Amino acid sequence: MAPANEAPAIFGRMMAIARTKSKSSRPAIQRLRCWAISVLYEADAIVQCEKHGWLLDRADPYARECAFAIARKCPPSGLSSEEGVVQIMDLLESIGDSCPECPPKKVEYAQ
Ligand SMILES: [Zn+2]
Repeated sequence: MAPANEAPAIFGRMMAIARTKSKSSRPAIQRLRCWAISVLYEADAIVQCEKHGWLLDRADPYARECAFAIARKCPPSGLSSEEGVVQIMDLLESIGDSCPECPPKKVEYAQ
């Protein structure tokens, strides 16, 4: 297996989120999604809504480049460097930059 012991402590929670919010129940897909999340987290390319747990894209080009570099260097077992990068891109496409459950930040509340 890949050196998953480097994953941050939050990885367990990420796994749970990936399981519940993944469209597919196939274990291999879940494993790749968890891997992509851990890489993006490590590169600081994504954050998590503290209230609801949704993963949010920080839209930070430098952090994304870091994530791609990690993916190229350490793709998941059975995948090439390019396929690893594709997994990262797929995950970034699947998450938004704002939490769907948090109220919009710029709402003017009428009194
Ligand atoms: Zn939220």
